[in-house]
Amino acid sequence: MSKIRMKIAIKLSVSVLVLLVAARVVLAEDYREARLEMVKTQIAGRGITDEPTLAAMRKVPRHQFVPENMAVHAYKDRPLPIGYGQTISQPYIVAFMTERLQLQPEFRVLEIGTGSGYQAAILDEIVKKVYTIEIIEELAEQARQRLANMYPDITVIHGDGYFGWQEGAPYDAIIVTAAAEFIPHALIEQLKEGGRMVIPVGSPYGAQWLTMVEKASGDVLTTERLLPVRFVPFTRTK
Ligand code: SAH
Repeated sequence: MSKIRMKIAIKLSVSVLVLLVAARVVLAEDYREARLEMVKTQIAGRGITDEPTLAAMRKVPRHQFVPENMAVHAYKDRPLPIGYGQTISQPYIVAFMTERLQLQPEFRVLEIGTGSGYQAAILDEIVKKVYTIEIIEELAEQARQRLANMYPDITVIHGDGYFGWQEGAPYDAIIVTAAAEFIPHALIEQLKEGGRMVIPVGSPYGAQWLTMVEKASGDVLTTERLLPVRFVPFTRTK
């Protein structure tokens, strides 16, 4: 190649590179705008006022928690499929559950149902320590890899959340993101006195209620139905 040709080739490659980088920046900026709009209309617009919850929802890049072909839908007002018959919850439900836990920065929180890892990331923006358990090995592994760079402090466990996770107990708050027919005993045991748990309770494909469980002193439990919901079923290892 002549010197001139070489120079042109180099200049062209540099231009293409600059364009590619620019396109990525524009895309990231588009997603950020979509995310801010989502919080404004779907979250704050529907009555969520807890500032840490709103800040976390504005920050966590939800489009990076869904399959690539779903990324353009990530900020829509709906749940999305994440493979293996599972779904990432609708943004409003994620925010609603997070707000209801009344999280404090020093909290240790347990999540049952890691799925994509999105809810765990939202929690990690707010509290000191997050443990999350996923029963489907492939999803647990995918979430572990995804979170390793962005949220390295989260502990992802592959296992049956029915038994909770004794190693991290007791928890200030527990969040269950699959619908259980009853509240697993181990989760009540592993909740601190004064702690709160939100859990969808009901039949797998029928009526379910998002339920608030509060553990008062002396192990007295109070439960309150918050919202009718539709979650994927809480499954058990066979
Ligand atoms: N919180 C998730 C959405 C979860 S969907 C997110 O932010 O993406 C519910 C998840 O619960 C599914 O991935 C399902 O495999 C998991 N799950 C169901 N039963 C479980 C159990 N017994 N223990 C742990 N995970 C369970």
